[in-house]
Amino acid sequence: MPVYTQELPLLAEAQVVVLGSGSAGSTAAIASARTGADTLLVERYGFLGGTSTMVLDTFYGFYTPADNATRVVNGIPWEIVERLYAYNMVIERSSSYGAGQAVTYDPTTLKAVWEQAVLAAGARILLHTFCVDVLMEAGRITGLVVASKRGLGLIKGQVFVDASGDADLVFRSGSPFEAAGTDGQPAQSLTTTFRMGGVNHERAKTIKRDELVSGMKAANLSGDYRLPREEGSVHRTPIADVVATNMTRVAYVDGTDPLELTKAEIEGRKQALEYTRFLREQIPGYEQSYLMNFSTQIGIRETRRIWGEYRLNRDDVLSARKFEDAIAQCGAPIEDHHAGNNTRWEYVPDGGTYDIPYRALLPQKVDNLLVAGRCLSADHDAHASVRSMGQCMAMGQAAGTAAALAARTQTNPRELAITNLQERLRADGALFSGATVATAAT
Ligand SMILES: Cc1cc2nc3c(=O)[nH]c(=O)nc-3n(C[C@H](O)[C@H](O)[C@H](O)COP(=O)(O)OP(=O)(O)OC[C@H]3O[C@@H](n4cnc5c(N)ncnc54)[C@H](O)[C@@H]3O)c2cc1C
Repeated sequence: MPVYTQELPLLAEAQVVVLGSGSAGSTAAIASARTGADTLLVERYGFLGGTSTMVLDTFYGFYTPADNATRVVNGIPWEIVERLYAYNMVIERSSSYGAGQAVTYDPTTLKAVWEQAVLAAGARILLHTFCVDVLMEAGRITGLVVASKRGLGLIKGQVFVDASGDADLVFRSGSPFEAAGTDGQPAQSLTTTFRMGGVNHERAKTIKRDELVSGMKAANLSGDYRLPREEGSVHRTPIADVVATNMTRVAYVDGTDPLELTKAEIEGRKQALEYTRFLREQIPGYEQSYLMNFSTQIGIRETRRIWGEYRLNRDDVLSARKFEDAIAQCGAPIEDHHAGNNTRWEYVPDGGTYDIPYRALLPQKVDNLLVAGRCLSADHDAHASVRSMGQCMAMGQAAGTAAALAARTQTNPRELAITNLQERLRADGALFSGATVATAAT
């Protein structure tokens, strides 16, 4: 660990400090503040939401992917959907394949919705602040070393939630993790998403998914196009003539290496332009369409996964396992975006769910740290199922609640009575151990 030769100026202090404001971190901050802890949410960019506002527009994981889909995530995550409904900026698209019923929103509106929800809960927000290191004492994090336009600074806290997606606090504090791509399976590929306006939806919707896929195959075969993924998708959004895509594919990238990421960003945008050309030239309804935007940055699916007190695994997913320390649940399939031109799907049996155990959010060795979101403790395949934003938010609610309970009672998160945590989560609407919301998907 580097020694800081000058005393770092104190930038902020809170009982609970949440690093990273993606689906997991923003929800964690809301939960922590509502549970009565003075809470600070720290984010490197100038807005909240992480992948949910920078890259995507569809929450998966709320529903099971079955013909009789049921909603398996509630609580704070569903409140966020209700806030989007209040702006008329969300649609639900029914689907019994892939990751199941989709909740598609306007990502620009979501940026404001996250802020409103976090501030209404009573948490503070600190933007434009990048955490580069931690200070430690006797197995505990005492502060985050952060960089801003003012140079280095210090943020002190009692309990920390690592919702950085990349497990930056786990990495810097010396707690064990597994880097994606080092376990014999390549890290999931990266995707630059893009949105197109001016689409004639009536014409475009006559093209079925199979036809789009065969159109991409034919385009590649013709030699006139280079489309690295042939089963990418495009979907409608709450705005009438706007569609969003998940088409490009950049493989074999370490999403924590700035040199590799730089190349990936450039390649992702190059591919996105090729797909826009394909859509405009080959697909009915896109003749007058135009590129509205690329994702703010390339979408990163998988980097560091922590080695926590329990490691969720492939067998847990495919046997719909339940755990005594359940804090959330998941019915989403294993969805592995590997380097090839298709995606591997494997389903939880009988449209069921498996539980996410609290121990998967507890890093080893460091006492006052929790994780939430895509850096949880899971193997490659389990991660490929549990990373949907519905589950990241549900994990965020659990981690934020646990962090606040620990801070208020001066306990280590590892020593919290799980029944107290579960009781509080149930009271706040969280679902696990097979519980569902009565309403079926539309
Ligand atoms: C291309 C792509 C398509 C996907 N499709 C879907 C989909 O359709 N539906 C779905 O539900 N899921 C989808 N997923 C998965 C899902 O989006 C992610 O797993 C989820 O959003 C991760 O949320 P998170 O909160 O854990 O992390 P992130 O959303 O990555 O948030 C991490 C946050 O931490 C901040 N941060 C990171 N490091 C630091 C630091 N050191 N200092 C300060 N701030 C920091 C980041 O800026 C970011 O805001 C997709 C993922 C990708 C990449």
